[in-house]
Amino acid sequence: MIRATRRRVGRAVLVKNADAFDALYIQLQTAMTNAWDDAMREGIANALDRLRDLGPGQFTKEDGDMIMRILEASVGPDAIRAAMREPVVNLTDALFRVGAEEVGQAAGVAIAFMRPDLDALDVLKTGNLYWVGNSWNIHTQNLMAKALEDYFTEGMTRDGLTQRFAEDFAGLTKRGQRYWEILADHTATKTREIGRVTGYERAGIVRVQVRAHLDDRTTKICRHMHGRIIEVGKMREQADAYLDAAGKRNEPAAKAAWTMHGADADLSNTPTSKLGKGTASPPYHFRCRTITVAYFASSDPVDQIAQSITDREKLSKDQVADIRTLATGAAWMEKGNERRHWKKHGSFLEARKLADYEASARGVVRNPSARLRVSMRVPEDQKAKGDFTPRPYATFAVPHVFTKKGGKKRIEQPGHLFTAVRLDTGEIVTHHWRDDDLSSRNDITPARDIQKALKGLLKWLFR
Ligand SMILES: [Zn+2]
Repeated sequence: MIRATRRRVGRAVLVKNADAFDALYIQLQTAMTNAWDDAMREGIANALDRLRDLGPGQFTKEDGDMIMRILEASVGPDAIRAAMREPVVNLTDALFRVGAEEVGQAAGVAIAFMRPDLDALDVLKTGNLYWVGNSWNIHTQNLMAKALEDYFTEGMTRDGLTQRFAEDFAGLTKRGQRYWEILADHTATKTREIGRVTGYERAGIVRVQVRAHLDDRTTKICRHMHGRIIEVGKMREQADAYLDAAGKRNEPAAKAAWTMHGADADLSNTPTSKLGKGTASPPYHFRCRTITVAYFASSDPVDQIAQSITDREKLSKDQVADIRTLATGAAWMEKGNERRHWKKHGSFLEARKLADYEASARGVVRNPSARLRVSMRVPEDQKAKGDFTPRPYATFAVPHVFTKKGGKKRIEQPGHLFTAVRLDTGEIVTHHWRDDDLSSRNDITPARDIQKALKGLLKWLFR
């Protein structure tokens, strides 16, 4: 019934035009690093000139202050803001529109900006410019002040100081470049995402799905976010909180409005409904490549089950019943595959014949007291082809003592008989005995108990 022909059209509208964003992002990054580079070069040249002009003699605290003033005139908040004004303002506008238009194109709707969107855009433009200028204080001033302080305590000649200045500040430019790259990336992504929220609203889309770029390098957090459904209303609240903070130049509030998760963040078990307010739109961390797409609910029961598992939400009684029905009627694995599995696991199962192996697998699924767990998992063969799309799985387990002959002794080892069923294709994919109940290493969502094994040891009949 569930496995009847399944429609898989129009589930999600994919973004077609990622090029526009990439082009703008590179422009922003280039503009920022160039402006910074030019400003630094000029500032350092001026500072070194002044050092030389001073001639030989003791380097004083006043000389240090003077050098800081000269540098600040070139790379201070006002100077940097002025140097980057045009590209930051223009590109903020373009990135915001790209976000909105990507959504409009995908949904086939022309996005008309209204008063609130234009107001938001103005806040973003000045806000982005403000963060850019403010970066002097956050990132650079302390480093330079520290460098100067070190020179005072080391009692160097003026020539030696000039040389070390030139070397250290060259390193500072490099470090600065990485900083500007991250800031450009962050500014571009956030601006586009706020534009997308407007696009979703105007296109009448109320829910979106998180799409991580899945490969070996996908961050843990984005693996945990992938496939979840986020309400556009929640994204709007987040964007408004961020814009409000940016308008008030309240940096802590801006940071709180949009959580940048660290590398150790673990959302693997957090239901989507329990995610914090600051976790709605990507980016979820620095240099995040995750996007969102419009989501239209599927009427297919297996799609709905997969979605509930992905969102780490509780499955309904009907869904659990559907899983059982599906697993009971699951197709048996293909012959070659079956032989391979039987050869590998058959001895553990005391399955001397292929038919016994199948009977054992199906018996576990049919056992009403079996422990039932579900997870989204990337199939091994699919992964080998570079496809990391998670699929829904159900595993059934019953306690089983494996008896092996160790010389004359018989060794009894407690464990479980497992049968795994892939739900979207409706087939049994493996059956084996294991001495532990660890999840598969291919699990994307942690294997979750839907029904725990019934209490009391049930004698398992091998048929
Ligand atoms: Zn990411």
